[in-house]
Amino acid sequence: MIPYGKQTIDESDVQAVIAALRSDWLTTGPMVESFEQAFADFVGTKHAVAVSNGTAALHAAMYAAEIGPGDEVIVPTMTFAASANCVVFQGGTPVFADVDPESLLVDPADVEAKITSRTKAIIAVDYAGHSCDYDVLNEIARRRGIALVDDACHALGGSYKGKNVGSLADLNTFSLHPVKNITTGEGGVITTNDENFARRMRLFRNHGITSNHRERDAIGSWMYEMVDLGYNYRLTDFQCALGLSQLKKLPAWILRRQSIARAYNEVFKGSKVVRPLRVRTDVAHAYHLYVVQIDESYAGKNRENVYKALRSKGIGVNVHYIPVHLHPYYRQHLNTTEGMCPVAEAAYERILSLPIYPILTDAEQCQVVNTLYEIMNT
Ligand SMILES: *Cc1c(COP(=O)(O)O)cnc(C)c1O
Repeated sequence: MIPYGKQTIDESDVQAVIAALRSDWLTTGPMVESFEQAFADFVGTKHAVAVSNGTAALHAAMYAAEIGPGDEVIVPTMTFAASANCVVFQGGTPVFADVDPESLLVDPADVEAKITSRTKAIIAVDYAGHSCDYDVLNEIARRRGIALVDDACHALGGSYKGKNVGSLADLNTFSLHPVKNITTGEGGVITTNDENFARRMRLFRNHGITSNHRERDAIGSWMYEMVDLGYNYRLTDFQCALGLSQLKKLPAWILRRQSIARAYNEVFKGSKVVRPLRVRTDVAHAYHLYVVQIDESYAGKNRENVYKALRSKGIGVNVHYIPVHLHPYYRQHLNTTEGMCPVAEAAYERILSLPIYPILTDAEQCQVVNTLYEIMNT
C-alpha cells in the first residue's frame, strides 16, 4: 500500500537518537534546549516550547492565552478534532467557522460574523500546509483585542509573504507525529515572541512547577513550588535529538513535497472531475497534504466509490477531515448540527487526500495517477 503520508528516517537520525540514549539525560536535558533554540531560529521567533504532542501544544496555547469557562474561541470546522478539543480542555467553548470552498481555509468573513463579546481567541488552521491570510486575520484579532493562534501542524517549512510559518500569529502550534513534515515519533512545539506566553507554557508542561529537575540539580537545591495546575507534557531528550536531526533536512523535504504537488497539478490541470485546491500566490505551501475534490456531477462516481476503489488497488488515500462540528461529541455537548457550516459540509463529500511525502518516488506517483484515471474511466 502506498500511504497518504510517511516519515523519512535516515542513518543520521538513527545515530542522533543513539547518541542521546548513551548520554546522561533521557528527558529534560540539553537536547530539549538545543532543539527549542534550533526550532525558534528556523521559524524566526524568540521562543519555542517543546511538548509531548501537537494536541498538548494546542492545550498549552489555550492555557497561555488564559482561555477558561465562559470564553469562546473561533475554530474552523475543516480540521482535526484536536484544534477544537483544546478549547474544551480549558473549559471554553469552540465556535465553528466555515471555510472558503476553493482552498478550504477558514473564511475570515465567517470568523468576523461569529465573534461575540465572549470571544477570546481565534484558532486558524493552515489546512494542508497552505497558510491562511494572516494580514487579514491579525487585523481582525487586533481590532477585537483577542489572541490569534495558528494551528500550523500541517505547515512547518511553509511561509506567507516571505515570513515563516510559526512567526505569523501570537501563538503557533506544531505536531511532530510521523505523518507531519518532521517527526519525533510523538511530539509538539509552540512558537511565540511573547515572553509571558513562553514562561506560562514551560510551567504548564511541567505540572505547573517553577523549575525543572535539571535546573534544581545545577544549583544543588531540592526546593520547588507548584504555582498552578499543569500537566506532564514534556518531550524527551532522545526525541529532541531526533527532532534536531530532522529539522536540518526539512527545507529539502519541502522542496520535494512541492515538486510532487506540481506534478499532480500538471496532471489535473483543466480536469473538471479531479480538482486540486486553489493556492494563493503569496505563500510557500508546505504540502503536508495534497487534497483534491472529486466532482460527482461530472464523474458519475462519488468520492466514496473512488476512495474504496483506490484503497483496493493499493493506493492509501484518506479523507481530511470530517467537519469537527459533525462529530457525535460536539453534537451532544454543543448541539451542533448539519447546516451550521454548509461549505465545509459540502466539501467533505468531495475531498480526497492523495499520497505525498518526501520519499514517494516518481514511479509511485505515476501509479497513483494512473490508478485514479483507470477508476474514473471505468
Ligand atoms: C496532527 C494534528 C494535530 C494533533 O497533533 P498530535 O501530535 O497528533 O497530537 C492538531 N491539529 C492538526 C491540524 C493536526 O494535523
